[in-house]
Amino acid sequence: MNPMNIMMISCKKAADLTCASLDRPLTLWEAVRLRLHLSMCAACKAFQLQNKALLKLFELRFRDPVYAKQEAGIPQLPPNACERLKEKLREAARNSCPPH
Ligand SMILES: [Zn+2]
Repeated sequence: MNPMNIMMISCKKAADLTCASLDRPLTLWEAVRLRLHLSMCAACKAFQLQNKALLKLFELRFRDPVYAKQEAGIPQLPPNACERLKEKLREAARNSCPPH
């Protein structure tokens, strides 16, 4: 078997790994295959960047205690909002990234 076939993952798998990386550290094997895919697939690369930027914004805005204090006048999101956002991102990944 061509060794590249073992390394190649579908866009669906790449999206799953991108989402998984938000919840847990990827294994070395997962990280290597994801990096390889992202180096060749502009769509998944964009998805990963978007995902990370959104979560970062979200966490900065709603989780950082200093920031939250400065912005005390703005209503807070419910405690599980971050998990719900991640679920939305997962849905978007499922819908926008069909396997090849
Ligand atoms: Zn892809």
